[in-house]
Amino acid sequence: MRGGMASSAGDALSPAESEDIRMTTVDFSEPFDVVVAGGGNAALCAAITAARGGARVVVLEGAPQFYRGGNTRHTRNLRCAHDGTAPTMTGPYEEAEFLDDLMRVTGGNTDRDLAEMTIAHSTELIGWLGEQGVRFQPPLGGTLSLGKTNAFFLGGGRGELNTLYRQAEALGVSVVYDAPVIALMVTDGFFVSAQIMHDGRQHSVRGKALVAASGGFEANVEWLKQYWGPAADNFLIRGTPYNRGDVLRMLLDAGIMPVGDPTQCHAVAIDARAPRFDGGIATRLDSVVFGIVVNREAKRFYDEGEDTWPKRYAIWGRLIAQQPEQIAYSIIDSRSIRLFMPSIFPAVQADTITELAGKLELDPPALENTVAKFNAAVQPGTFDHTVLDDCRTAGLAIPKSHWARTIEEPPFYAYPLRPGITFTYLGVRVNKNARMLMKDGKPTANMYAAGEIMAGNVLGKGYLAGIGMTIGTVFGRIAGEGAATHANN
Ligand SMILES: Cc1cc2nc3c(=O)[nH]c(=O)nc-3n(C[C@H](O)[C@H](O)[C@H](O)COP(=O)(O)OP(=O)(O)OC[C@H]3O[C@@H](n4cnc5c(N)ncnc54)[C@H](O)[C@@H]3O)c2cc1C
Repeated sequence: MRGGMASSAGDALSPAESEDIRMTTVDFSEPFDVVVAGGGNAALCAAITAARGGARVVVLEGAPQFYRGGNTRHTRNLRCAHDGTAPTMTGPYEEAEFLDDLMRVTGGNTDRDLAEMTIAHSTELIGWLGEQGVRFQPPLGGTLSLGKTNAFFLGGGRGELNTLYRQAEALGVSVVYDAPVIALMVTDGFFVSAQIMHDGRQHSVRGKALVAASGGFEANVEWLKQYWGPAADNFLIRGTPYNRGDVLRMLLDAGIMPVGDPTQCHAVAIDARAPRFDGGIATRLDSVVFGIVVNREAKRFYDEGEDTWPKRYAIWGRLIAQQPEQIAYSIIDSRSIRLFMPSIFPAVQADTITELAGKLELDPPALENTVAKFNAAVQPGTFDHTVLDDCRTAGLAIPKSHWARTIEEPPFYAYPLRPGITFTYLGVRVNKNARMLMKDGKPTANMYAAGEIMAGNVLGKGYLAGIGMTIGTVFGRIAGEGAATHANN
């Protein structure tokens, strides 16, 4: 059953060769050694490692082939500790500094042992991914300031995924697309089989071990509504529509210990014109700090200049979620239009605030009034968007603490904003071997988890750019190795 096309690390197959392998019909009559549920970064890292460990592996990807790879398709980078010699990052970025950063953003809401282990293993990732054929860009400068901490994939997350799929297939991993796991047979923490829907009928896929790598539940609006109510109908999901949390739900129902706050999700402000799903990074908007943000009633509702954008951008999704109809408008004038990375959609433009209000369907006198009051409150200062400058307002109930400049030079611009959900925090509890734990704390017999579905063990709260892919790659490798070892014994 192994494809018999094992290639040396980094060998790339021609598109025709890999297409041939993809067309292979998978035989479900014999049990596999390792069944991997999901088809993103964590799944592929697990599948490759398990195959290298001699296991017969099947990847069950719920999405069709074109949409394979979940939210990994949208990623650009991963965070790694390193000693400064890596050609992909400036440095060094010591493990202790990485841990400090993680403790700060999570407020200590992390399993410290797992966090330290993740960070220690992060030093191996550039090398390991490189061995699979993944290529990286030179260190990145510019507005993101991640050149020291994060390595950027050449070709983005899609490039990384395509390489990992090629490598997995070359190692004989069977990949089944359009194969959502719809049920799991689990008895007392022992995995027996996964039920999939494929080609219009159900199949039972048996295996000696399971790796669950099927992401969070952020695309399941009904589930989000349990915590957010009808407001969730107005949320936009930044990633794949296929991460509905079905496998997560099955695991929790089977008695696996949960981790992470089910009511929490990572939500940022994105362009309200983005599609309901899969808008990715091109719809993110960084204009907030440069002007004012008003709601449907043309009223400001939060300090737009509280802190630098990277430190604050993740609170804006939640703030907008609390506004009427979950919509807001970022308003700037011509002096700021070139200061941020634009959205893929052009700004709404007008020569007067009244005209702008009309185009946004806001009450023109109300917006005129808000802008006039804001302009009157702006204090003299020296504008510098690279630091926490001294441009602020005085006397407003809702101040703007930095970068406050009058909005008076036409043309005026606006971007409509909605909450954009990146991921959810609820997951399954694992130990250092990526083995899932039952509610009583006992390790399961043969069930492993990697990626977003268990990220809450390390990232209980907040976010650190690039850590999602770090957690997925580290735990994917550990899960794959553990599952293969279990299957071999
Ligand atoms: C716009 C955007 C940008 C991001 N940028 C970055 C970044 O630059 N760096 C970073 O570290 N993180 C980033 N993230 C977070 C990152 O995407 C995740 O941390 C990471 O991709 C998780 O990998 P994963 O393999 O666990 O999940 P995913 O890549 O989401 O894969 C989950 C897989 O499970 C499949 N699946 C779901 N349900 C089922 C089922 N029932 N049966 C079978 N398969 C199923 C899906 O189809 C998918 O293939 C970003 C997220 C978004 C939305």
